[in-house]
Amino acid sequence: MRDAGHAAVFLDRDGTINEEVGYLDRIDKLRLLPGAAEGIRLLNASGFKVVVVTNQSGVARGLFTEAFVVEVHRTLAEILGRQGARIDRFDYCPHHPTEGADRYRRACPCRKPEPGMLLEAAAALAIDLGRSYVVGDTPRDLETARRVGARGILVRTGYGAEHLKTASAGEMTAAHVAADLLAAVHWILAKADRQGPDPRDRRRP
Ligand SMILES: [Mg+2]
Repeated sequence: MRDAGHAAVFLDRDGTINEEVGYLDRIDKLRLLPGAAEGIRLLNASGFKVVVVTNQSGVARGLFTEAFVVEVHRTLAEILGRQGARIDRFDYCPHHPTEGADRYRRACPCRKPEPGMLLEAAAALAIDLGRSYVVGDTPRDLETARRVGARGILVRTGYGAEHLKTASAGEMTAAHVAADLLAAVHWILAKADRQGPDPRDRRRP
């Protein structure tokens, strides 16, 4: 491990790993997008930490419980595991600033584009955010990347294609636009290859 920590790829969940279905409120609505498992497996093999960061305001809105979100993540891990892919950590934000029941209705530091989930994961897994990536299907994911000094990649799956048509240039701060998660991973791995060893390593004796 480098002194500065691990590089990570933070993945949005709905529309990036699995199909965007509005609010995912039943397990049988959980369907992997094509190539998602292969992309995650490639990241595992290349030494990247893989962290899911997902806004789940459906909890605040009373559409499902936190226990259900945890069950979705357990199921997702199982499905991916059967295809040799591993998520190192799942983080979710159950809040909403203006909607829902008291204990979930607040301006929290974790709802993307706030960077709270990434900062917490970085501390827990010794992640170097400056060498890390955020992959997602909305400008909100890109803004989250920008706030922690990571590179943001927009995928065309989920809401991605729609946002590409409608978002303003200011919102569209992607380092790259990829067809899907697997294409995003190929871009990340090609970039990691081109960059060669981390310059910080060369300063070490
Ligand atoms: Mg999404």
